[in-house]
Amino acid sequence: MKEITGNLWDHHPEYIIAITTNGIIKKNGECVMGRGCAKEAKDRFPDIAKKLGTHVKLCGNHVYYLGKNVVSFPTKYGWWEDSDISLIERSTQELVALVDKSGWKSVIIPRPGCNNGRLKWSKVKPVLKKYLDNRFTVISFGSKVGTSRMNSITSFKNEFEFLSNFYTSPFVYAGYCWPTVEHAFQAAKTKFSTDKWLVRIAKTPGIAKKKGRRIALRENWEQVKVSVMTELVWLKFEYNPTLKNKLLDTKDAELIEGNYWHDNFWGDCFCKKCSDQKGKNMLGYILMQVRKEEMNKC
Ligand SMILES: [Zn+2]
Repeated sequence: MKEITGNLWDHHPEYIIAITTNGIIKKNGECVMGRGCAKEAKDRFPDIAKKLGTHVKLCGNHVYYLGKNVVSFPTKYGWWEDSDISLIERSTQELVALVDKSGWKSVIIPRPGCNNGRLKWSKVKPVLKKYLDNRFTVISFGSKVGTSRMNSITSFKNEFEFLSNFYTSPFVYAGYCWPTVEHAFQAAKTKFSTDKWLVRIAKTPGIAKKKGRRIALRENWEQVKVSVMTELVWLKFEYNPTLKNKLLDTKDAELIEGNYWHDNFWGDCFCKKCSDQKGKNMLGYILMQVRKEEMNKC
């Protein structure tokens, strides 16, 4: 197994490229292609998402040849999950079997599970090393700090404060008016209606957040929190057209809720301690989804 640093696509099509994938199929039959190399593959070869979706539907979440010198390499089941080291091991074995069968001489793969999957390379490397010989090259994209953020908004402050859940943006949800997404989100967590009320009357979103940490959570909160957030963010922009226009003005910039409070679920923490993991940036992702849907309406 060889290791290099650089850009994955510089090696295409000379190398077979393994893109890290998940097992979720959308209503239109395409696989969800995530944010990383899978999305880049889809941007280059749009039919790949459908091809993978068909394979996954018929035979499950496995390594498949997708045409154009690209193969899938599952590292997780749900796109929102952390990568699964035992699935990575299985995919590695499947990849080797496919490469043997196809007679390919050189295959390149990004560090699987180490970007959006939030695994440490030190944990993944020994697993890969067990199976991969010198036909295989593992590529890393350099450190998080070094990655290009040319077209990214990485801080929801100043002119981009309106992207933050703390921004005043009244809307109606569940029969009440809420001053900010943060208020409504913290209230949606609660098991008891008295707590809900206490959160709703909080003077600032910061206070609402603090209260939200101390209340009893409703059942299944973990399962529904992303869809609740999605709905609230959508309502925020529906009720506030000025903000919606500002959101549309961000065009195709990647929206990242950069922070220093170690929130690697809703955002991406840029502190030193978190430098070897990439945040899931769920809030950024939701904002980009809302923007995309609104753009399509225009
Ligand atoms: Zn941190």
